[in-house]
Amino acid sequence: MEEERQKELYNYITITHMLCLLIFVIALILSGHNIFPEIYPYPFANIWFLILFCLLGLIIVILYITKSYYTPKTPESLSYMDIIYMALPLILAISVLFISHRDLPNSEVILLLPILITASIMGKKSGIFMALVCSLFLILHEIVFKQEVVNIFKAIESDLIYISLMHIVGWFIGGIADMETKHRKHLTKMANTDMLTGLYNHRYFQEKLKEYFNFVSNKSPLSLIFIDIDHFKKYNDSFGHLVGDHVLEILGELLRENVTSGITARYGGEEFVVLLPNSDSRAAVQVAENIKKMVEKQKFYGGEYQPEGKITVSCGIATSPTHGSSPKELIKHADYALYKAKILNRNKVELYISVLEEFELNEEESFNSIRTLISIINAKDRYTFGHSERVTAYSIKIARRLQLSDNNIQLLKYAAFLHDVGKIEIDGSILNKPGSLDEHEWNILKQHPRWGSFIVQSVKELIPITSIILYHHENYDGSGYPDGIKAEKIPLLARIIRIADSYDAMTSNRTYKKNMTPSKAINEIKRCSGTMFDPELVKVFIGIINADYTLR
Ligand code: GH3
Ligand code: MG
Ligand code: MG
Repeated sequence: MEEERQKELYNYITITHMLCLLIFVIALILSGHNIFPEIYPYPFANIWFLILFCLLGLIIVILYITKSYYTPKTPESLSYMDIIYMALPLILAISVLFISHRDLPNSEVILLLPILITASIMGKKSGIFMALVCSLFLILHEIVFKQEVVNIFKAIESDLIYISLMHIVGWFIGGIADMETKHRKHLTKMANTDMLTGLYNHRYFQEKLKEYFNFVSNKSPLSLIFIDIDHFKKYNDSFGHLVGDHVLEILGELLRENVTSGITARYGGEEFVVLLPNSDSRAAVQVAENIKKMVEKQKFYGGEYQPEGKITVSCGIATSPTHGSSPKELIKHADYALYKAKILNRNKVELYISVLEEFELNEEESFNSIRTLISIINAKDRYTFGHSERVTAYSIKIARRLQLSDNNIQLLKYAAFLHDVGKIEIDGSILNKPGSLDEHEWNILKQHPRWGSFIVQSVKELIPITSIILYHHENYDGSGYPDGIKAEKIPLLARIIRIADSYDAMTSNRTYKKNMTPSKAINEIKRCSGTMFDPELVKVFIGIINADYTLR
């Protein structure tokens, strides 16, 4: 917005300069004065003057073009370029007056132009200063070029009207410009500020982000932190929205006082953003960790009734250019990281890592095939995607406890993330059916491990996980599907996914059922130990979940 205003302003000044030049040329031609009779004693002697004007016009155009490539450090700051640009009419006026020896009647009026431009753009002080400079010039001109020698007082006396007029114009126009600037600043502040928290608002944040991608040429890293209050709906439901609003106010104050670098804004609802120019991911993680700790320490009314025993926030971070080369991409990835922080634990800081990066694939062909598979899972619905992420996270926690090899952990990552890929063959009406399935539908659904293993075996790097995907619905006692194999016959990685998958299915909302609390889900898993699940893995998994905050 500010850039547009500046551009418009400079267009305006350029037009004024050009008009001024034009009027002078016409006036000179009409007056028929010959300014250099010694050098050029012919009619149309003002050819020299015309050349001079053309040169000045050229300078104006060049300056204008340079200006449009030049962005001030802050929109309000004025540079030496601005000064030259505004003083141009003065330079022009001086040339006219000196060269013409005041042959042109009333040519002093031209001196009002630099005063008008300076005052209207830079305010009262600068306007009066320019009036002073022009007055001095006029007095000097009077002394140097008048036939009879005059003293300074005589000069002032003879040009008193002009001098007073110039100062009044500088004072008056500058005063109005100052008023306008003050109000504009106030309105801009209002338009950019969030009423409740006093932070910047969504509009301003988007504008700054766009500005960075469009105007900042040195692409130093830019980090974006998304901050979302955990379980805030529950807090509002317990204490009412007014108390909730007060939490937002306090949080706004905390962020304003403690996050000193970058731009902190309220993105919307109970979500905040911090935009950190010149900060890489490591620096951003540090900032986010500090915010997280700061919120944990802060006392909020009724915070002890929150699931964590206090009000907490989760943060998602993405850094440009690594994680996005446009505002949309950066926001999407920071939001995704936040989403991941939420599904894993809450009260957590997560840096964006693309699933593909986690997969560490070397071959381009596999990379492309897996990317396609992931985009299919992604497109299916957000639940399926989140589910795959969570199952992967739980499975890896189990694998780490079991101290599996890096190679096995890598395979588990692929398998857990892609375990439900076979569902893309199944009709949405069966997958999302609100009631229970009939026998025919159930038989179709049971085919998904087979389809899944069939799909992944076409990718060379995924061949080792085909059996894991095939058997991820087998039960420890042999009552599962598709082959009904038992105990250690079921690959270990498939047994791990079986628990992680079931736990997530129990604890998340699906169309056909409401979620269980984590403790109820754990009881259910214990109940099925030895039948559905490998008893040893159940012990490990319970250990992990108990260490997790959810059950505390
Ligand atoms: P989580 O983020 O941990 O997943 O849980 P949540 O309960 O915070 O989930 P979600 O982001 O869906 O809920 C946001 C809630 O924030 C909904 C609404 O009650 C509350 N909220 C949004 N804007 C305002 C606001 O301006 N004032 C108040 N008091 N509450 C707001
Ligand atoms: Mg939210
Ligand atoms: Mg929230």
